[in-house]
Amino acid sequence: MISPVLPTYARAPLSFVKGQGPWLETENGDRYLDMGAGIATCSLGHANPMLVEALEAQGRRLWHTSNLYQIPNQQALAEKLVAHTFADTVFFTNSGTEAIELAVKMVRKYFHDQGQPDKLEIITFQGAFHGRSSAGIAASGGAKMVDGFGPLLPGFVQVPFDDIEAVRAAITPATAAIMLEPVQGEGGIRVMRGCFIKELQALAKEHDLLLVFDEIQCGMGRTGKLFAHEWFGVTPDIMTVAKGIGGGFPLGACLATERAASGMIAGTHGSTYGGNPLACAIGCAVMTEMTREGFMEDVSRLAGHLRQGLESLVATHPDVFEFVRGEGLMLALGCKVPVMDVVNAGYDHKVIIVPASDNVVRLLPPLNIDIYDLDEALWRLDQVATALESSQ
Ligand SMILES: *Cc1c(COP(=O)(O)O)cnc(C)c1O
Repeated sequence: MISPVLPTYARAPLSFVKGQGPWLETENGDRYLDMGAGIATCSLGHANPMLVEALEAQGRRLWHTSNLYQIPNQQALAEKLVAHTFADTVFFTNSGTEAIELAVKMVRKYFHDQGQPDKLEIITFQGAFHGRSSAGIAASGGAKMVDGFGPLLPGFVQVPFDDIEAVRAAITPATAAIMLEPVQGEGGIRVMRGCFIKELQALAKEHDLLLVFDEIQCGMGRTGKLFAHEWFGVTPDIMTVAKGIGGGFPLGACLATERAASGMIAGTHGSTYGGNPLACAIGCAVMTEMTREGFMEDVSRLAGHLRQGLESLVATHPDVFEFVRGEGLMLALGCKVPVMDVVNAGYDHKVIIVPASDNVVRLLPPLNIDIYDLDEALWRLDQVATALESSQ
């Protein structure tokens, strides 16, 4: 008999009733160290006092009005994002995949309004994950996501990761945009090389294409910069954001330059919930914290510590772990044993890690985790590896 909740998830037999910082607690008081942060979403830890304060204060005043009216919190959050990025304008959504939907619509509308309605194809990369909406799965393209759901939204062409000749060969007069995750998340924490992204930028310029960066997972401080593309000195025309921006509250955004957004006039797009006063109050608190003096320096320092610890795990447990890769606090351990064995052994040792493609486990702790908790996580991972070695 089907469960009351649609059984689309392979869930662990674990549930939590409370959280604080990087810790999660079950009903019977077992404490787990959360190195997944709700898949890079609880960016400032669980029950962060600043976010709780923002939630409670706004929650007592006003939750929702719809976008028929001015929303000062939305205005404030948009101004913060514009002030700290390449973007001139922002649309708010409730999730990542909705931000992707708008990015796709914006690309199409831009060229439509330029008198080039046939210029509508978007090049994406193997291993990409752009969400589960119809446009999202068509853009992502993995068999697991698309099989059985055809016909897919047309207009996407996928090329191998990090292969500039394949991109060049895929460009035709119908090509409108290139969409990429500067660091692939679900795809296995695969970092695009800076020179590759620079070459994409050059191709975009040469062929009049828009660059769309999906920073839903790698953005909002995850890599040690507010947005990952800041490492590469390349700015997109359109960028999608979600996960970390709400600190665990559902919030997403699509940011764009004035030029890329020029077709999106009144009536062309909307959302009932998107950017409501409650979500934006929390988003503002997240942005205020992440843009304060010293925040990103702390992330980079913690990241260096974690990375070093993971490297020595690989050195001491070469039969379990193979490599470390990633950027900032978006790191992966390549595994020599089935990745779910590692994740499950993590549960046994009360450390939460998240699987990804390419047989890696992801470490995506809250960005404000302290160094002692990182050491505790490393110690628990060492126990995990030892347990897996003795069961081999
Ligand atoms: C999680 C994710 C999405 C989808 O976001 P949802 O909020 O689950 O819709 C899209 N792109 C990337 C890179 C993601 O990591």
